[in-house]
Amino acid sequence: MKNFFIILIMKILNLCLKICGKHGGNFLGKIAYSWNPNIFKYFKVHCPVIAVTATNGKTMTNNAIGYVFKSAGKKVVSNIEGNNMETGILSTILKNCSLTGKIKADYLVFEVDEGYVPVVFKDFPLSTLVILDFFRDQLDRNGEVETLILKINEFLKTYNGNLILNTDDPNVARLGKANPDNKNIYYFSVEKYDFASLEQKEAGEGKFCPFCNTRLEYEYYQYSHIGKFRCPNCDYGNNEIYKLATNVNLKERSFKVDDITYKIRFNSIYNIYNLVAVIACVSLYNIDTNVIKSALSNFVLNNGRLEEVSINGVPTIINLAKNPTGSNVSLRILNEDDDEKELLFVLNDNLADGLDVSWIWDINFDNLNNVTKIVTSGTRAYDIAIRIKTSGFDASKIEPYLDLHEAVESLYKTNTKKYVIANYTALQPTRKELKL
Ligand SMILES: [Zn+2]
Repeated sequence: MKNFFIILIMKILNLCLKICGKHGGNFLGKIAYSWNPNIFKYFKVHCPVIAVTATNGKTMTNNAIGYVFKSAGKKVVSNIEGNNMETGILSTILKNCSLTGKIKADYLVFEVDEGYVPVVFKDFPLSTLVILDFFRDQLDRNGEVETLILKINEFLKTYNGNLILNTDDPNVARLGKANPDNKNIYYFSVEKYDFASLEQKEAGEGKFCPFCNTRLEYEYYQYSHIGKFRCPNCDYGNNEIYKLATNVNLKERSFKVDDITYKIRFNSIYNIYNLVAVIACVSLYNIDTNVIKSALSNFVLNNGRLEEVSINGVPTIINLAKNPTGSNVSLRILNEDDDEKELLFVLNDNLADGLDVSWIWDINFDNLNNVTKIVTSGTRAYDIAIRIKTSGFDASKIEPYLDLHEAVESLYKTNTKKYVIANYTALQPTRKELKL
């Protein structure tokens, strides 16, 4: 009875918010959860529930899975706006359930913050969990990456649903051994691509075998610590692969899985990993290959995550980068592009960004390809400028501005192609300044 009234009140609140033109974010979930932290038990779900978690790539993968299902004519309930903690997911459920807690959908698809997987799915059914990668991210909020992985590992010990894992990330692949009785483990991988390297180019984690502590041997690195690895002592890393992307062509924006060519709208290795995870996931639900193909050829994210736009005729590529890996991925895309370009890096240190910006020292700014000028901005415009200068980039070509408006004005003095990298709270103000 209590839950019935909680939902009723939330429905009324939601209506009020709608009338005021407000979206509400995780507001409804926050109140409902504070009234009853066991409310997740109350909902009645009769369809598959899919969750995506990772340090990087959750939003894209989550939204692409939902997009493919929708393209197949299915009804999907999903937190596509990215509120991914327990309160955000609860908000999405509250908006889409009946007063008796029934959720009408063909699929529930949620991106879930790494730390909240055990919290949400303690009392809520889970059919498929997709795990992409684990990197250092906002350490002050999550604690060490290892603690996070152990928490998920603990949760997985009693989980028997589908588990889709990136076999090229030693931090992720290890989770396939959490429950030896679970027969529903599906590994995905991407074949070595043109820019893979023998040496690790960017800072990363997971260099030691989690089972016997031996140093892992890498045949190659795709980016950061993602690559083909193996433990020489216990053979960890030798997994049977369910979906493998081959023939990766970033220029053509295509790759193959099971001999089918997928044309996509993205041009980074990092996005290809996400999309192979998508293919692995929807394949478990027998979605027609032609539907997947056509959906992925149209799927884009218009929220500053590898957004490509034209600003007064100047081609501009914008990407969110809230940690070293995100930044290194953006710089990889920049370096793989031979055109002359100018870079804007906007760095804030607001609460949501993490107050500690020392992670910028893990960004690899060495040998930037054909970059003729770098403008920096944000509350830490000077820190990032110094970081870039230390990497050997010509200091006379670096312009720091605390004022974002001045920074953008200086950037668009020329018609040279632009790359824009912004961290969490910097992204939307930067898009606004660019009039997007
Ligand atoms: Zn080992």
